[in-house]
Amino acid sequence: MLVDAGLSCRELEKRMSTFGEEPSRILGVVLTHEHTDHTRGARKFCIEHGTPIYGTRGTLALTQHDGLTTTTVADGKSFKLGDISFLPFKVRHLAAEPVAYSISLNSKKVAIASDLGCVTSGVVEHMRGSDVLMVEANYDEEMLLRGPYPDFLKRAIKSDHGHLSNDDAGSLATQAATSRTGEIVLVHLSKENNTPEKASRTVEERLKKSKHRTTIRVTEHGASSGPHSLG
Ligand SMILES: [Zn+2]
Ligand SMILES: [Zn+2]
Repeated sequence: MLVDAGLSCRELEKRMSTFGEEPSRILGVVLTHEHTDHTRGARKFCIEHGTPIYGTRGTLALTQHDGLTTTTVADGKSFKLGDISFLPFKVRHLAAEPVAYSISLNSKKVAIASDLGCVTSGVVEHMRGSDVLMVEANYDEEMLLRGPYPDFLKRAIKSDHGHLSNDDAGSLATQAATSRTGEIVLVHLSKENNTPEKASRTVEERLKKSKHRTTIRVTEHGASSGPHSLG
């Protein structure tokens, strides 16, 4: 499956081929929310490869999906793509009806949470004990404060319906990681307001205080990472 499709269809195909993946094998494109950095290539990809698209009612209403097979998903209601189970859970973000996903196959679990403005107990509960945690680490507090964005945008990013800072990501990782968690992948880093080094260092510091030892990996802005193994 694809969780979100924010790159162009062509770019998605290109990057999938570097991992040896065939677009025709994708069982569904599963959306978190309607923002274009998550949906840009979705419709074209689904049309070209006959792929169904999944999203909440609010997300689908604001995402181009004419001509596509759609399935509406909802917070707390699990669904399957092949053998893979998805559990959508709601997050706070300035979008119509955003969700994150806990994804399981056999006894393995991956949770993906981006974009979200704050770490609620519901988010921690759904992500806890995942083998792989994919967590938004959007900005470094200091860089955002001193950076080029106008004040209203800085406030929106920092708000409860904005994005997670490196500190927030560290807090979420610390609360959600257990002895099962082998890898934490930091995603959705801002190009202007963060660096991979700052993100991983901040999360590492927070995790040090907890007893769990996990590998931290960072996806750089615009770049690919992985594959991330569940093994
Ligand atoms: Zn967003
Ligand atoms: Zn985004």
